[in-house]
Amino acid sequence: MQEKVELLKELQGIDQDLHRIAGSRKALEKERAELGAEMDKVQEMVDSLTAEVENLQSERKELAAALSQEEDNVAKAEGRLSAIKTQKEYVAVLKEIDTAKKLNKDLQDRISAKNGEIEGLSRDREEKEGELAALTEKVSGRLAEIGSVLAGYDEESAGKIGYRDGLFEQLPLPLRKRYQLLFERRGGMAMVEARNGNCSGCNMQLPPQLFNSLYTIQEIQSCPHCNRLLFVLPAV
Ligand SMILES: [Zn+2]
Repeated sequence: MQEKVELLKELQGIDQDLHRIAGSRKALEKERAELGAEMDKVQEMVDSLTAEVENLQSERKELAAALSQEEDNVAKAEGRLSAIKTQKEYVAVLKEIDTAKKLNKDLQDRISAKNGEIEGLSRDREEKEGELAALTEKVSGRLAEIGSVLAGYDEESAGKIGYRDGLFEQLPLPLRKRYQLLFERRGGMAMVEARNGNCSGCNMQLPPQLFNSLYTIQEIQSCPHCNRLLFVLPAV
């Protein structure tokens, strides 16, 4: 009995360590995911602004090509004026030139408006890029720190798990199941000390006969109130 008690105590100590490590790991992984999401969010804004700027630049390019084409047409029409014979034809060409110039003015206005939009969005993008750089600088140290702590946890857990499983396998099968279930359901306290007639897990008083039997009986007993496995420290 004493041997099993010692084994269970050691097992529970290791399981509590592993449980604590798993909890810390989860918290760090959550923090890392949140930092990553924060950076992704800003990166997405930068990407979206870059795409918008590129889109506007391509629209401006099309407008500039159209303007250049129209300016060519105006120049050609003006070149034709000197060779025109009739007044009617002259007036028609002048009208054509006037219409083309108005169209060009409209194209120039649209190009200016595009330039304004491009400038504005480029400034926004620069601002977001600055924000991203500052954020990256701010969190990169923390991310490296988290990575190194997690690697330490891996190493620590790996070292404990093999030994823990070795202990676990030394227990009789029904006791393994009882222990495992209680560890999960009783907040990592499957086995507790019975002290001064009380269960130290639930603080309820144990039947005196049960408490006394803990000093002599060969089988491990459970608290009738919380089901935890009980042990007593040898009487001095
Ligand atoms: Zn109890």
